[in-house]
Amino acid sequence: MANFKFAVLPGDGIGPEVMDEALKVLKAACDAEGHTLEYSVYEVGGAGIDKFGKALPESTLEGCRAADAILFGSVGGPKWEHLPPKEQPERAALLPLRKAFKLFANIRPGLLYADLTDASPLKKERIPNGIDIVCMRELTGGIYFGEKKTETLPDGRIQASDTMCYRTDEIIRIADLAARTAMKRSGKLCSIDKANVLETSVLWRKTVTEYVSKNYPQVELRHMYVDNAAMQLARDPNQFDVFVTENMFGDILSDEMAVICGSLGMLCSASLGEAENGCGHKFGLYEPAGGTAPDIAGKNLANPCAQILSAAMMLRYSFGQDALASRIESAVKKAVCGGVRTADIAFGKTPVGTKQMGQAVIENL
Ligand code: NAD
Repeated sequence: MANFKFAVLPGDGIGPEVMDEALKVLKAACDAEGHTLEYSVYEVGGAGIDKFGKALPESTLEGCRAADAILFGSVGGPKWEHLPPKEQPERAALLPLRKAFKLFANIRPGLLYADLTDASPLKKERIPNGIDIVCMRELTGGIYFGEKKTETLPDGRIQASDTMCYRTDEIIRIADLAARTAMKRSGKLCSIDKANVLETSVLWRKTVTEYVSKNYPQVELRHMYVDNAAMQLARDPNQFDVFVTENMFGDILSDEMAVICGSLGMLCSASLGEAENGCGHKFGLYEPAGGTAPDIAGKNLANPCAQILSAAMMLRYSFGQDALASRIESAVKKAVCGGVRTADIAFGKTPVGTKQMGQAVIENL
C-alpha cells in the first residue's frame, strides 16, 4: 500500500472536465489496491491569469515543488489570445514548468487500437492491427535552447540564427531512458538524427551507439536519418517500436505520429525530469497531447481517455506502479473497443459524453 502525492493542474477549456474523469479513475484503481491519493488542485494557464494575473502563479509552482509529480490538463484559449506572446498561457506556463523541473525527456506513446483504425488517415491495410509505438524526444537541449540572435550585416541585410548544441551527458540521459523503455517492450530501438549533415547528429549517433552497446547490449539499436524517418512513419509506422531523437526532430515527428494515430483525445504524454522524487522514481509532468479544445469545452463532449492514460503514465513513471498503470490502460482499451465512444472516435456508434466515458473506464477496471 502506497501514498501517491501529486499536484493537479487542470488548466482551461476541456482541461477541468477531462481531469475530473482521470481523478475518478485513479481513485477507483487505487482504492481497489489500498493505495491512497494525496493531491491539491492549482490554477494554471488562463485560469492562473484570471485569478492571479500570471499563467504560472507562485502558489502553483510551490504546490508542484511539494509534490512527486504533476498531472496537467491543457492551457490556453481565445480569451487570452490578445495577450503578448510571452504572456500567452502555453508559453508562460508550460515552458517555465519544463525549465523549473528540468523535464528533459518527453515520452509519447503512439497508440491506435485495431478497432479504431478508422481514426487514422493511413489506409487500413497499412495498419491492420492498429499502431503501437513510442516516441522519446529530448526536451531541454538542441536548437530551441541554443544561442539565438538577429543582426544587421555591414551591407544592411538582416540575418537571424539559432544555434543547435548538444553535450554527451544530454544525449546519454535520454539514450538511457530510451534503451530502458525498449527493453520493457520488444528490445528494438531506433535512433533518429541527421548525421550526414549535422555535427550535433554525428555526436548524437556516436554517443548513442557507444552508450547503448556498452550498457544495454541486449537492445537491438538501429539509426535512421530524420527525413527518411518522416517518410517511414507515414509508410509503415509499426516498423518502429521505440524511437529516440533530439528536440526539434522529436517535435515534428511526434506531431506526425499524433496525426497517424487518429484522435488527439486518445494520446497521452509524459515529460520526465532528472531528479528523483520522494518515491525514488522520476519526477514528471503528465498531460494529454491535445489542447483545450475550445470548440467543445464545457459541453460534456471531450474524450477524457488521453487524460486518463496520462494519469496511468504517472503511476508507471513517477510512482513505479507498472501493474496498476497497465490495469488502467487495459480498462480504457476494453471500454473503447467494447463500443463506448466519445464523438471524436464514434465512427457510426452513438457517442457518449465525457462523464459516461470515464464511468465506462471505471467499470472496466
Ligand atoms: P486542440 O488540440 O485544443 O483542438 C484541436 C481539435 O482536436 C479540436 O477540434 C478539438 O475539439 C479536438 N480535440 C482535442 N482534444 C480533444 C479531446 N480530448 N476530445 C475530443 N476532441 C478533442 O488544438 P487548438 O484548437 O489548436 O488549440 C486550442 C487551444 O489549446 C489554444 O489556445 C492552444 O494554444 C491550446 N493548446 C494547449 C496545449 C497544451 O496545453 N499543452 C497544447 C495544444 C494547444
